Amino acid sequence: MTPPTQTGSGSSGPAQAGPAQTGSVQIDNVYIAPVAGPEIRSGYIRIEGDRITGVGPMAEAPATPAATRIDGTGCLATPGLVNTHHHLYQWASQGLAQDATLFEWLTTLYPVWAAMDAEVVRGAASAGLGHLALSGCTTSSDHHYVFPKGRGDLFAAEIEAARELGIRFHPARGSMDRGESQGGLPPDVVVEKLDEILAATAEAVDAYHDPSFSSKLRIAVAPCSPFSVSGELMTEAAALARDRGVRLHTHLAETLDEEEHCREQFGMRPVEYMEKLGWLGPDVWFAHAVHLSDADIGKFAATGTGSAHCPSSNGRLGAGIARVSEMLRLGANVGLGVDGSASSELTTLSGEMRQALLFQRAVHGPGALTARQALELATLGGARNLGRQDELGTLEAGKLADIALWRVDEPFAAAVTDPVCRLVFATRQPPLARLLVGGETVVEDDELRTVAHDATGRAGAAAHRRLTRLAEERGITAAKEIHS
Ligand SMILES: [Zn+2]
Repeated sequence: MTPPTQTGSGSSGPAQAGPAQTGSVQIDNVYIAPVAGPEIRSGYIRIEGDRITGVGPMAEAPATPAATRIDGTGCLATPGLVNTHHHLYQWASQGLAQDATLFEWLTTLYPVWAAMDAEVVRGAASAGLGHLALSGCTTSSDHHYVFPKGRGDLFAAEIEAARELGIRFHPARGSMDRGESQGGLPPDVVVEKLDEILAATAEAVDAYHDPSFSSKLRIAVAPCSPFSVSGELMTEAAALARDRGVRLHTHLAETLDEEEHCREQFGMRPVEYMEKLGWLGPDVWFAHAVHLSDADIGKFAATGTGSAHCPSSNGRLGAGIARVSEMLRLGANVGLGVDGSASSELTTLSGEMRQALLFQRAVHGPGALTARQALELATLGGARNLGRQDELGTLEAGKLADIALWRVDEPFAAAVTDPVCRLVFATRQPPLARLLVGGETVVEDDELRTVAHDATGRAGAAAHRRLTRLAEERGITAAKEIHS
């Protein structure tokens, strides 16, 4: 960890603030990439409470001596990044089944995950969310779909971790009800009964969902995938979500194995199957959506169905490359996701912009995706997936003050004069000078400020050790073998 520089000045100085973070805050002298509207070379961002109240060039900055000032000299301001697919518990099972296909990887890891408890989830979620915040993420979803019996309140554990860190959280109550005995992929020991799932999901929505404008906690309904869930659960879950006014999420069209499974079991391709079950619409976003036909993309665009592109995970599992540039061209919304850490170890959300850009260009040429489009995927595209495009995803007056300040003037980086190029093209993430969520500082100079930085990382390692031990106590050697 690089300690904050206190002696710098001019373009090499740190972003500094006064003592207070409440009331009025103004970021000055910053390069602004608002995602909506033209970029501003040297501008200001005015914050009142948890909202942005003004964005513009420095020459037009209001004279506000009472405001807390943040010097943005040498920094790029972007909207806070939005992560739209994750499985935080998987922080505790990274590095396993490293060379497996999705189905091989899942069948290796399901028995390990069956051993998790609330303590594992709490530590894994703390580390996973802290890691996301350090990569510029101000809002994250999570898809938790393994609920072994008698292991504590796993959903509450991850919500508590997010609340402590202070980022916006959209946990999706996931589920599986189609085990091996019903033709599904997971062993029966990790699936739940349909009635229990619907009751627990309704309970989670009723207990936690906050639909207010500046909400930090919204719940989605998220049966796991076509190969682990019955058609009845998909249909009932959609009815439940629409009754409660919450969003729907699941994995879809991730691999060709899944497509084959759907053809064999349901006589149709994954998107056709979801359409039949009532799962296309503006309240739905799918994880992955790699193997789409032209017709599938057209249906996404026509219905407002979104998708979470997870390029590192898709590459790690050899799943394929989603048709992102074609989806954008045809008007289908795409956001980014790091996916669970067990299939994308230590992946940063900022790095997924680069990964997305390179994947599209490798297939379709250098015009396939620009750095600005990659930034839009990570911000406004994610906000749309979560139904929050009116609150998040751009730097504009009236939106929530979720802002990442990236330091782009380091000596080696200073040769790149386009700060958005510096952020998206480079392998190494620029230092995160400041991360604001609703105007509150969560990260400063690459260090978590709302929670103990190092202890948060260690909580993830402890969760890994605990899960390994709990699995071994049950005779599950998948985690042990890799370490021997
Ligand atoms: Zn996933």
